[in-house]
Amino acid sequence: MRIVVKIGTSTLAHPTDHLNIRRVEALCKVMSDIKNAGHELILVSSGAIGMGVGKLGLRQRPADIPTKQAAAAVGQCELMYFYDKIFGEYHHTVAQLLITGDDTKNERRHANFINTLNRLLELGALPILNENDTVATEEIVIGDNDTLAAIVAQSIGADLLILLSDIDGLYTADPHTHPDAQLLHRITRLDDSVRQLAGVSSSRQGTGGMVTKLRAAEICLSCGCDMVIANGNDPENLYRILDGQNIGTTFTREE
Ligand code: GLU
Repeated sequence: MRIVVKIGTSTLAHPTDHLNIRRVEALCKVMSDIKNAGHELILVSSGAIGMGVGKLGLRQRPADIPTKQAAAAVGQCELMYFYDKIFGEYHHTVAQLLITGDDTKNERRHANFINTLNRLLELGALPILNENDTVATEEIVIGDNDTLAAIVAQSIGADLLILLSDIDGLYTADPHTHPDAQLLHRITRLDDSVRQLAGVSSSRQGTGGMVTKLRAAEICLSCGCDMVIANGNDPENLYRILDGQNIGTTFTREE
């Protein structure tokens, strides 16, 4: 299978904006094993801005664009350093691709980046993507990595997109405020009744929330790629998803 995995900032980093080493090591180990089993993997990783905030010792997440972009420049190095180090321990070669909205909208640029991505997969490398936050301004920004991951999954004809988040999946209500909220395991159609479940929630560290995840699901459903939202706190959830267990929320076309 060709699988895109997206990891959000709050899964990768502690609330201090420093790397959650235990979790990231476990994630890289599981992903290495899945790759060893013969699957093609692409990782979309957030965390550049968050890690930059931690490394630069900023007291809070910056609101102004230049500081955000500076933090991303620092944090992206930090992220890739760790990925290269940990995946390297399992003998996998990582490759960094940083893209902006232009690379998805402009036909020639899009073809270029998809060619590179396909070639990297043929070469057995593990492509790791993020938005090029240091140059992405309002006019060209994709804005969130849930959408970026779905666009990538669509463009390369992936079989499955897994969004690893700090929540188990899509609930009937916000589980933080409604303890009786039920997890929805399977969604085959995205209509208004599903969309209204997304609310406006977003984690403190990340960008997305459920709204962007449902936007990603819409892209995936339109091209026949299955999508799963699952909790990234337990990296072994990736095995469970591939084993067909009922983990998180699966978006799939009706058979
Ligand atoms: N590109 C952003 C970063 O690396 C994250 C965007 C998102 O969280 O969706 O910090």
